[in-house]
Amino acid sequence: MNKIYFSCICNNKYNLLSSYNKNISINICSQCHPYYTNKKKMNNYSEKIKKFKNKYNDFFR
Ligand SMILES: [Zn+2]
Repeated sequence: MNKIYFSCICNNKYNLLSSYNKNISINICSQCHPYYTNKKKMNNYSEKIKKFKNKYNDFFR
C-alpha cells in the first residue's frame, strides 16, 4: 500500500492508503461538493425561470 494524496481544486488535500501509487487531482471533494450541487441547482432553476418567462411572453403577446 502506498500513501497517496488527493488534491482538489478547492485546495483541500486528502491522504489515503492505496494500491495506486500516484497522487490524484480531483475536481470535487466532500468539502466543495455541496457548493457545487447548489450552484448546479441554481443554474437549473434560472434556466427554468427563463423558459417560463419565454412561454409567458409568448402567451401574452
Ligand atoms: Zn474540493
